[in-house]
Amino acid sequence: RAKKAGPGTVCFFEQADDKASRDRKALQADLEGAIARDELFLVFQPFLDLDGNRITGFEALLRWQHPQRGLIPPSEFIGIAEETGLIHEIGEWVIRRACMTLADWPVDIRVAVNFSAAQFHNAGILQTIVQALADARVEPHRLEIEITESMLLSKYGSAASILNALLQLGATVALDDFGTGFSSLTYLRKLPFSRIKIDQSFIRDMLVQPDCAAIVKSVISLARDLRIGVVAEGVETADQLEYLRQFNCDEVQGYLISRPVPADGVLALLDTKQVRATFAA
Ligand code: C2E
Ligand code: MG
Ligand code: MG
Ligand code: MG
Repeated sequence: RAKKAGPGTVCFFEQADDKASRDRKALQADLEGAIARDELFLVFQPFLDLDGNRITGFEALLRWQHPQRGLIPPSEFIGIAEETGLIHEIGEWVIRRACMTLADWPVDIRVAVNFSAAQFHNAGILQTIVQALADARVEPHRLEIEITESMLLSKYGSAASILNALLQLGATVALDDFGTGFSSLTYLRKLPFSRIKIDQSFIRDMLVQPDCAAIVKSVISLARDLRIGVVAEGVETADQLEYLRQFNCDEVQGYLISRPVPADGVLALLDTKQVRATFAA
């Protein structure tokens, strides 16, 4: 596109690219020391079970408090971490911190941790998880790993063996962003997922697009027939919640229930009777 627009424009785009790549390099250099400087932290977003109207667990979501740039969301640095290999160190930090935080919670709730494709390359990943669980003294069944379809596409072989090993260990695995990748049904048949998470784009469009509602309804009943759990992501309105309740969805997650909260806000959220009262049928 730049070429068609003439040489001047090419130059403009190249300068823009240069700046973007300098920015990226700077961010990359900063990220290298972020753990040591204690700039990374986790926030936690609850899963609400629609049968019991209770919180059954929290998803750990990574944040970076950059000293100059402020709060940076994962979409802006996970990619860099993957390219540079820093994701292994960061991923280990996330698992350890998530398990340590979970140790303070009631025993019947779980923590879910997101995984990058690159983490499946790391042969030591299982040992890392086992050690994190042991050090925090939490039972493996309380840890859930979230992976996406797209990562299975590129790393199916190594992913499958690690997923099976995780299950042997007693941990569970959820298929995140369900419906946005390819061959979802094949993966569901071949891999032992405990749960699927319907991508938030389906929940967002459900009330305005009847086709979308049909897909959500079918995925929920598919999960039921497969005897695995199903979570709807990105629930923002009471109407969406009502639909999901009618469709018999197991659990919901989204700003309507709660935004992600810092670790020290978790127990307060669990205590808040309002959560139960507000979302009771
Ligand atoms: P995800 O795992 O699908 O997480 C859900 C994202 O949706 C989170 O964004 C969450 O804050 C946001 N969200 C939750 N409820 C709502 C809602 O009602 N409406 C809307 N619009 N958004 C909602 P976040 O925290 O920015 O994370 C984005 C993605 O970054 C995650 O998507 C996950 O793929 C990745 N990520 C986050 N933490 C980690 C991590 O520790 N490791 C790795 N590898 N990836 C992570
Ligand atoms: Mg997730
Ligand atoms: Mg998701
Ligand atoms: Mg149920």
